[in-house]
Amino acid sequence: MTTPAIAAVSRVVGEAPQLEIVTIDDPRAGEVLVKLVATGICHTDMVMRDGHLPVPMPVVLGHEGAGHVVAVGEGVSHVAPGDAVVLSFASCGACPSCELDAPSYCHAFFSRNFLAMREDDSTAIHDGAGPVHSHIFGQSSFATYAIAHGRNTVKVEADLPLELMGPLGCGFLTGAGAVLNALDVREGQGFAVLGAGAVGMAAIMAAKIRGAARIIAVDRSADRVALALSLGATQGVVADGRPLAEHGLAGLDHVLDTTGHVPLIEEAIMTLGPQGQAGLVAAFAPGAQVRLDAAFVMSAGRVVRGIVEGSADPQSLIPQLVAYWRAGLFPIERLVRFYPFAEIAQAIAAGESGSVIKPIVRM
Ligand SMILES: [Zn+2]
Ligand SMILES: [Zn+2]
Repeated sequence: MTTPAIAAVSRVVGEAPQLEIVTIDDPRAGEVLVKLVATGICHTDMVMRDGHLPVPMPVVLGHEGAGHVVAVGEGVSHVAPGDAVVLSFASCGACPSCELDAPSYCHAFFSRNFLAMREDDSTAIHDGAGPVHSHIFGQSSFATYAIAHGRNTVKVEADLPLELMGPLGCGFLTGAGAVLNALDVREGQGFAVLGAGAVGMAAIMAAKIRGAARIIAVDRSADRVALALSLGATQGVVADGRPLAEHGLAGLDHVLDTTGHVPLIEEAIMTLGPQGQAGLVAAFAPGAQVRLDAAFVMSAGRVVRGIVEGSADPQSLIPQLVAYWRAGLFPIERLVRFYPFAEIAQAIAAGESGSVIKPIVRM
């Protein structure tokens, strides 16, 4: 048995996906068949489309899916048909990181999220000509149906506006988790975020939840800085090429970079106070180098660290973010714009141009 579906299939590096009719496998052991309601568009989808990760084509991208469970494979017991779910990143469940409840540092993270096939090299999607690569971030959710894993399928309450919730699986999880888990921003501390996109805005909302005294948003766009101020930033910096120090950034407890812009990161590290931490979440080009003033980093216990998916366990952080949203503390609806699935190319373009912070396509 298979399920017919419409999927946005990427066949050529750098080009927009095209909607096609495909078939989706039934769930195997450990897998979940989900009928998608909506999927957010994340920058990493563009990184994969452009061939900067070795994702095989043809492939169905998409990794911020939300929908309802249709069927579960053997061994999946925490969700059942009809449940509302948000899909997140995949992890193996058996490596040392997974055993320490740190699935975003899964030793198999790369293969589980980017190689676009099961462990036995099979794919869950087929078209008339043969296999189409699936299992991107354990979901490939630019489609009306997806095969996910039990581990990255997170049950949420049935009364939620599910079409809004998909980005809790990656972009918003990354920004909020960086603040709540990885950096562990505390009440009264000073925090700056470089780049006020979906990840940066989620980080700002989380820093406000934590009671940070200074929350500084740095972006090239005055509009985004203004939005950041309305979401909890206490200071906005429209990046104008002048050094961050000239904008008053100094002695900070935490800096989170979402831009991947190396000169800005090198400058931002120098704004850290004693025991200050710089977190790096952007996708870097292979071999990118960041220079450190070793004495500056060493002498006051400063830390520069990488952060993947907000150091989150999606099964606990996504319900926590839903609770913050219900309490009015995590107003992600102010960051999104919805598009019909047929306009996925326009939705992608709006995200890339920066005109929309978080585009979401509705299936
Ligand atoms: Zn693992
Ligand atoms: Zn993502």
